[in-house]
Amino acid sequence: MPHTSAILNTPTVVTSASEMQRLVRAQQAYSKRVGLVPTMGALHAGHLSLVQRSLQECDYTVVSIFVNPLQFSPQEDFSKYPRTMESDLAKLADLGVPTVFSPPAAEIYPPGFSSYVEVGDVTKAWEGAVRPGHFRGVATVVLKLLQIAPADRAYFGRKDYQQALTIRRMVTDLNVPIEIIVCPTVRDNDGLALSSRNVYLNPEERRHALTLSRSLRQAREMFTAGERDAAKIRDAIRKTITSEPGVNLDYAAVVDPLTLVELSKIDRSAVALVAARVGATRLIDNEILGHPEI
Ligand code: AMP
Repeated sequence: MPHTSAILNTPTVVTSASEMQRLVRAQQAYSKRVGLVPTMGALHAGHLSLVQRSLQECDYTVVSIFVNPLQFSPQEDFSKYPRTMESDLAKLADLGVPTVFSPPAAEIYPPGFSSYVEVGDVTKAWEGAVRPGHFRGVATVVLKLLQIAPADRAYFGRKDYQQALTIRRMVTDLNVPIEIIVCPTVRDNDGLALSSRNVYLNPEERRHALTLSRSLRQAREMFTAGERDAAKIRDAIRKTITSEPGVNLDYAAVVDPLTLVELSKIDRSAVALVAARVGATRLIDNEILGHPEI
């Protein structure tokens, strides 16, 4: 039967947790190193950078696509979150990804489901304070994904800094035998950090949204010029963002890279975290000041 190469390359879509587990174990039985890239789909170049890293470092890569209801609060955008399965599969086919895990919600949260993962201190402030229950949802689904696809390595983006730190904490605390790899933030040419939620921005909002990355660039320039007073850097970020029309700042902070506690003085390195709403769209971004700790 004739095949086009596109058909030949399309990843196998696995929807069953037990089947996914079996496939990963089968690879490992042949001493293959397995990489997992958890996503919620609507794939962009940021996601694809994680996928490419896994393809480079591992023999077999699984990309999961699951919009996790547990990490959205009732007033958030779960139902309208972009779902673009066909084009996601085409992008993954182009890269040569063999397997996509895309379960229905009932496979992950069957009737009677009632076990949750609570990660401590690092989840309390910033995103955790603005989005109660968010990291509980993230940690729970990621631990499940790491059980379902018990890979050797899992890849996360530094764009979601607090999330990456939370997952590191969880796998350490719960002795999950996996290496967590945190990859750099991928940006558009104008500096905007790529995010599946950027599609919600109209052209004017998108222009306003650039203030986030602009403020963080200024922060990095201050740090590079020798500024170590964290409050001065934080205040400069705040001033830039709050003077942009149409942008509502949720928080701007200069924090310790491992505890996320606000710093007064930067000794070694720090992370500048920002979150703001542009119209109805909530965006987050961050900049490492100094050496990345994760
Ligand atoms: P999401 O689909 O938003 O849950 O993201 C899936 C993974 O992609 C997470 O580990 C994110 O941190 C990562 N990610 C999202 N945006 C970017 C980006 N612009 N650069 C690098 N990684 C990203």
